[in-house]
Amino acid sequence: MPELDDVDSRILGILVEDGRRSFREVARRAGVTTPTVQARVKRMMEEGLIRRISPIFDVSKFKQGLVFHLYLQVNPAEIEKVAQKLEKTTEVRGIYLTTGENNLTLRVVVDSLEQLQRLTETLDREFGVKQNSSQMVVRIFKDDQTVVVSPGTEVRLKCETCGEPIGAKPFVLKVAGHERFFCCPSCQEKFREKYEPKLKGLSLAIEAPEYPSAQST
Ligand SMILES: [Zn+2]
Repeated sequence: MPELDDVDSRILGILVEDGRRSFREVARRAGVTTPTVQARVKRMMEEGLIRRISPIFDVSKFKQGLVFHLYLQVNPAEIEKVAQKLEKTTEVRGIYLTTGENNLTLRVVVDSLEQLQRLTETLDREFGVKQNSSQMVVRIFKDDQTVVVSPGTEVRLKCETCGEPIGAKPFVLKVAGHERFFCCPSCQEKFREKYEPKLKGLSLAIEAPEYPSAQST
């Protein structure tokens, strides 16, 4: 699996502290140049490691809705499908696959118990999902992201061609200065065949990166 290097992890750490910092400020704190920060952040966004940079509210300062944890029992074969649908539901703020009989936990925010009731009915009707129990969150003491970033943190990448998760050793192409990751030489080659003619037209090069990548397993 690819890993965050020291620079990635420093940049992420600085942005986690305060996402409003300018690239210049991040560069100064990380001890690298501004273009390096720009390139790394762009890459990490392209790789989907950073989904977006958004403010983290102090929930205690807001008049917020009612927060519930719903514990669901979902047929394991359906979980992926159910989770994908639930992702698009505004009230659903967190979806967690867990161990145990109740294998899916949702964190939902609603304005009223009626809205919670409607959501519960929707879960049953549209997803055929049983809600086994729920708990209302009375007060949030801490609500941080689960990822603790440090150098060497492994990242999960998906193959650019087939979308499958990439194993221990990714196959890499450098496209216009950005690394693209693949699961196997065949996917790597398909990408090259598909994009090389287009990129040549734009005089952008596809190169093998400077570090060894095309390992065989
Ligand atoms: Zn692939």
